[in-house]
Amino acid sequence: MAAILIDGKAVAAALRQEIAAEVASLAILREKPGLAVVLVGEDPASQVYVRSKAKQTVEVGMASFEYRLEAETSEGDLLWLIGELNANPDVDGILVQLPLPPQIDATKVLRAIDPSKDVDGFHPTNVGLVATGAGGIMPCTPLGALLLLQSVKTDLTGLDAVIVGRSNIVGKPMAQLLLGAGCTVTIAHSRTRDLPALCRRADIIVAAVGRPEMIRGDWIKPGAIVIDVGINRVGDADGKSRLVGDVAFAEAEAVAGAITPVPGGVGPMTIACLLRNTLTAAKARRELD
Ligand code: NDP
Repeated sequence: MAAILIDGKAVAAALRQEIAAEVASLAILREKPGLAVVLVGEDPASQVYVRSKAKQTVEVGMASFEYRLEAETSEGDLLWLIGELNANPDVDGILVQLPLPPQIDATKVLRAIDPSKDVDGFHPTNVGLVATGAGGIMPCTPLGALLLLQSVKTDLTGLDAVIVGRSNIVGKPMAQLLLGAGCTVTIAHSRTRDLPALCRRADIIVAAVGRPEMIRGDWIKPGAIVIDVGINRVGDADGKSRLVGDVAFAEAEAVAGAITPVPGGVGPMTIACLLRNTLTAAKARRELD
């Protein structure tokens, strides 16, 4: 039996609709949430992301503030802007698009963001709050992956989850969220021994590696839920390029119980969760929750 296809576009659209409805009720109170996105330089992929973030922010009824700075911008100038945004009452969320040019220390910049406006959830204060189960802002991509999992199985208690990848932006926070959801979590990485065997015992596999189609169909337990975070551009024989995930989709689909496609899986959820985090931050700052 073929796997259930988890439609990230549809889940993200439903989430944006919920957000828009809440934003509309806040707007009646003249409390329109605002998201500031800062882009330094002209990285083409980053420009595409920033454009769609701004478009979707406006579509849900929030205010979008865009700051496009030159590639030569100094660390001091960027830190000054962050200070301004931290102090600006119209700004509820601040997102600095990564990667930053080499003259700027990304860690220093991310730490300068007021944790209550850190809608990416990368500030150590939020990392600590999420890790201790004390609230905090959850990073967008892992949060999106969790919501997709819960769209096919509401109660994840007791399930064995294997996360492949241990980055600070995906693998590690994903582990915290799945622990919080009651899973037994294993984090695998490039030094893990016998990854196929480890994956084969998992009820849930989250792939966040950045290696095209690395996870094969015979690594997957029949019926498992597979969430593919990977986004890899590969060349076709006819000279065109296409996007693939970290999971060999056609093989995996024949074995898994449910699976996310690439594109159209976790990708669309990331921006929707950014908007959700901005709404949550706006409500918290206005003490509405
Ligand atoms: P990183 O490169 O930061 O981390 C990759 C992880 O994979 C590392 O922990 C690395 O292990 C591990 N790894 C590498 N090779 C292997 C291997 N052969 N076996 C097991 N583990 C391995 O990537 P990110 O976490 O930033 O991103 C992962 C993927 O997710 C990328 O394709 C990225 O494009 C995508 N992504 C998608 C997003 C979305 O919105 N959908 C958002 C963010 C990322 P080690 O630590 O040992 O080196």
